[in-house]
Amino acid sequence: MSSNIRIDKICVECGKPFVAKKTTSEICSDACSKRNYKKRKRTELIAKTIEAENNKKPFNPVVKEKEFLSVNEVCMLLGASRWTIYRLIDDGKIKAAKLGARTIIQREEINNLFNIVV
Ligand SMILES: [Zn+2]
Repeated sequence: MSSNIRIDKICVECGKPFVAKKTTSEICSDACSKRNYKKRKRTELIAKTIEAENNKKPFNPVVKEKEFLSVNEVCMLLGASRWTIYRLIDDGKIKAAKLGARTIIQREEINNLFNIVV
């Protein structure tokens, strides 16, 4: 009896059947292996780019120029928690408008809060 393992498998890259010599083999050939590697690398790169883009958002300088801010943006500007901002809204210290499910705060409200002259 042969000690070599032979398993009929389907290549994950090209979809063609092949005989695997290892139970872990998922790819039929070197060509498919290279293509699969490139594809994985590209997917990784896209995921990394999206992640980097998302990490950039809290530091978006556009927030500084915006006339209307979301609660999250106000949190960012003031370094306060959402809870604090909502409490200021409830106390009437910040006037806010509801835009559907979103709460919008005018920049002036933030400036007034601290008596900052623009
Ligand atoms: Zn293949």
